[in-house]
Amino acid sequence: MSKKIDGKTDGKADENKRKTEAEWKDQLTDAEYYVLRQKGTEPAGTGKLEKFYPTKDEGHFVCAGCANPLYSASAKFDSGCGWPAFDKCYTGSINTHVDDSLGVRTFYFF
Ligand SMILES: [Zn+2]
Repeated sequence: MSKKIDGKTDGKADENKRKTEAEWKDQLTDAEYYVLRQKGTEPAGTGKLEKFYPTKDEGHFVCAGCANPLYSASAKFDSGCGWPAFDKCYTGSINTHVDDSLGVRTFYFF
């Protein structure tokens, strides 16, 4: 479900479910496509948002695919792990999946 902060849906969720992989490739950069559509991960310390810290009142981060709000600027912190980190997200904005199949516990957020 596509949901905005104020609770109104914008109908983009259904639109996004119908997109072909070619349409996603057209919309996203190569790096965004790799992360969002192929379960990719950028190498630690290379992301342009890792060291980007807006002021606490300066809005929120959104999904590059559908523009849904994910977490507020005030939730971002420097974890030192090399990837952008946040300690809370908007309700319903992120799905999680835990994968133990490789012998290492991996958390996917999507
Ligand atoms: Zn999205």
